[in-house]
Amino acid sequence: MSITAIKGMNDILPGEVETWQFLEGKAREVFGCYGFSECRTPVVEKTELFCRSIGETTDIVEKEMYTFADKSDNSLTLRPEGTAPVMRSFIQHKLYNLDPVSKLYYLGPMFRYERPQKGRYRQFHQIGAEVIGVEDPKIDAQVLAMLDRYFREIGIDAVSLQINSLGCPECRPAYRQQLIEYLETRLSSLCGECQRRYQSNPLRVLDCKVEGCKQATCDAPAVIEHLCEHCDSHFNKVKNHLQTLQIPFTVNSRMVRGLDYYVRTTFELVTDQLGSQNAVAAGGRYDGLVQSLGGPALPGIGFAIGVERLVLMKGADQIAPEVPDLFLAAMGDAAVDQAFVLMSRLQSQGVRAEMDYQGKGLKAQMRRANKLGARFTLILGENELQTGRAQLKKMADSSQQEVSLEGLAETLAGQLK
Ligand code: ATP
Ligand code: MG
Repeated sequence: MSITAIKGMNDILPGEVETWQFLEGKAREVFGCYGFSECRTPVVEKTELFCRSIGETTDIVEKEMYTFADKSDNSLTLRPEGTAPVMRSFIQHKLYNLDPVSKLYYLGPMFRYERPQKGRYRQFHQIGAEVIGVEDPKIDAQVLAMLDRYFREIGIDAVSLQINSLGCPECRPAYRQQLIEYLETRLSSLCGECQRRYQSNPLRVLDCKVEGCKQATCDAPAVIEHLCEHCDSHFNKVKNHLQTLQIPFTVNSRMVRGLDYYVRTTFELVTDQLGSQNAVAAGGRYDGLVQSLGGPALPGIGFAIGVERLVLMKGADQIAPEVPDLFLAAMGDAAVDQAFVLMSRLQSQGVRAEMDYQGKGLKAQMRRANKLGARFTLILGENELQTGRAQLKKMADSSQQEVSLEGLAETLAGQLK
C-alpha cells in the first residue's frame, strides 16, 4: 500500500498554493507598514515552555500537544501556537535591549492533536503578530486596526470583530470565584467536560460549544462587570480608540480564550461562513507572560490568524496560478537544441519560458502551449535558425510580429507589462 500523509495534515498543492502565497505576501506587506519584523522560531520547543505559558489545565496542554521524548530523553513538543516560542526567543536574545517596543510577526505551521474536520486540522498554519513593551491602549487599537487593514487587503469582509476584557490578576480571581459559585448551582445541566473543568478552568465553560452549557450559563456573571478600575479604564480607552479609528466591533462579554496567559483585552474575528469553526483570528493581551517565562516585566499583545480558515473563506481558486510568458515550439533536432539554449537564457533573464521535452510534433507543442496558458509562443525551425529572426505570436489575439532572437528578452519585457 502506498504511503499517505498523516491524518489531519494536508499537502498544499499548485492551484491552492497561490492563494497561500497571496495571503502570506499581503501579511508581510501590511505588517511591514505597521513596523513589524518577522521572527522565525523552530517548530519544536521544550515541552515546559508550553506548559508554563499556555497553562496546565487548558485543552491544548491537557490533550492536544504532540509531545515526545527525543533520543536523549528530553521532552519536546511540536509548537501548538506561536506566542510562547516568540516570547522565548525575545527573552533569550534580550530583544528588549534593542528597543523598548518590539513588534514581531511570524507565519508557519502549528500542531494540535484535535479531531480533524473542516477548518480544524492537526497541522495548521497561523500568521501572527506580537507587540511587546507597550501598555498604552493605543497599541491594542493599533493591533486591531492592522488586523482590520489586513482583512481589507485580502478582500475578506465577512468577518466581525468581537472584543472583551478578561481582567487582570487583581480583579480576575474574585470574578473567577463568583463564576465557580454560579456554575455550582447548575452543574447538572453542564456537559461532562465542563463538570470536570468548572473549578480548574471556569472561564472556559463560557466558551463551551455544547448547547446545554450555553443555555445553562446564559445569565452567568460577566467579567467586564467585575473589572478593577485600571482594567475598566483600559478597556474603555481601547473602545474609544477603535471608534476614533472607525474600526467596527461588538463587545462579547462571554468570549474567553483557551490559553491562560491572556489578560485584559481579548478579541476574535468571527465569521458565519465556516460552521462551528467560526473564529478566523484571535488574540489579546498577555501582560504577565514575558515575566513568567523569566524575562523582564513587559506587557504584550498579539493575535494569530488561522490560514486554512482564510483559504476556505477566500475560495482557493481565486488567485490565478502563474502561466509561462513564452512557449518555445521547435521543429527539427537543431532547432530543438537552439530552443533549449534560448529558453535557458531567457529564464536567467527573468522570462518564464517553457518548451516541449517529449519530442512532440508542432501541433502537439502548440496544444501544450495553449493548455499551459502561455502568453506568447515562438516557432523555431531551419529558417529561423539561419536568419536569427522568428514570429512571436500573442496567444490572446493570435497577432504575430517578427522579432530578433538576440533581443527577445527585451522585446518580451516590453510586451508583458
Ligand atoms: P477554536 O476555538 O476554533 O478551537 P482556538 O481558540 O483554539 O480556536 P487560537 O489558539 O486562539 O484558537 O488560535 C488562533 C486561530 O488559529 C483560531 O482563531 C483559528 O483560526 C486557528 N486555529 C486554531 N486551531 C486550529 C486548528 N486545529 N486547525 C485550523 N485552524 C486552527
Ligand atoms: Mg482550539
